[in-house]
Amino acid sequence: AEAALRQSQKMEAVGQLTGGVAHDFNNLLTIIRSSVDFLRRPDLPEERRRRYMDAVSDTVDRAAKLTSQLLAFARRQTLKPEVFDVGRRLSGVADMIDTVTGARIRVVTERPDRACFVRADLSQFETALVNMAVNARDAMAGEGTLTLRLTCGCPLPPIRGHGGSPLPFAAVSLSDTGSGMEAGLLGRIFEPFFTTKEVGRGTGLGLSQVFGFAKQSGGDIDVVSTVGGGTTFTLYLPEAEPDGDIRPAEQEAVPAPAA
Ligand code: ADP
Repeated sequence: AEAALRQSQKMEAVGQLTGGVAHDFNNLLTIIRSSVDFLRRPDLPEERRRRYMDAVSDTVDRAAKLTSQLLAFARRQTLKPEVFDVGRRLSGVADMIDTVTGARIRVVTERPDRACFVRADLSQFETALVNMAVNARDAMAGEGTLTLRLTCGCPLPPIRGHGGSPLPFAAVSLSDTGSGMEAGLLGRIFEPFFTTKEVGRGTGLGLSQVFGFAKQSGGDIDVVSTVGGGTTFTLYLPEAEPDGDIRPAEQEAVPAPAA
């Protein structure tokens, strides 16, 4: 049953992905189609002929880039879950986030002092948090505070109108003091290839990775945002029993939580 559930969650993510790609591909094909139609005209001035040829060439390049992004995304779907203590991983994650956000964004970490184990792909977990941090950085236009907070043993609230579970989850939230998002935008951000960033700056795949990772790990991702006030993304992962591999000493070496 668990495998079937995982499979259906995977299919959900893949379904969303293919829908997004099909839509983008269609747009590109429309550009190529209409350019070729113009190019067929015998009386087309040389200057316009060159312009349409460039449009076809550029659009083919964009389609090729889309394909390679899709392949990279598909490759990331293979997860290697392991049991780890989220709290112990946070300082490493905060360091990575520091690197991507730069000196003018303050990164604050808050965590409880008890261990909190989850079973998930560790590198995907780190990637998900870095992806969210990159967005937070972009939303803060270079200045602000990013708070990385871990809460253990919380129930999973219903998200996007469904789900919810009384079982203990680890909740890792990332709050920024950035631009925030309107409701219309919020409804689309997890769609693959959805981006509001300039061509070349955004791929629209960051939050798709986060979404796919959360679902495939048996968790979920929630977002709360206020225009002009900032945004909080919360990644929920089901808590797991510590593995036999984890030595008790590792579970105890937890520094005092940040204020
Ligand atoms: P990308 O970052 O490449 O655009 P994502 O899937 O990571 O792709 O994000 C999709 C869109 O969601 C972004 O283009 C942006 O408009 C919006 N977004 C994501 N995170 C935030 C945030 N923290 N604050 C404001 N907008 C955000």
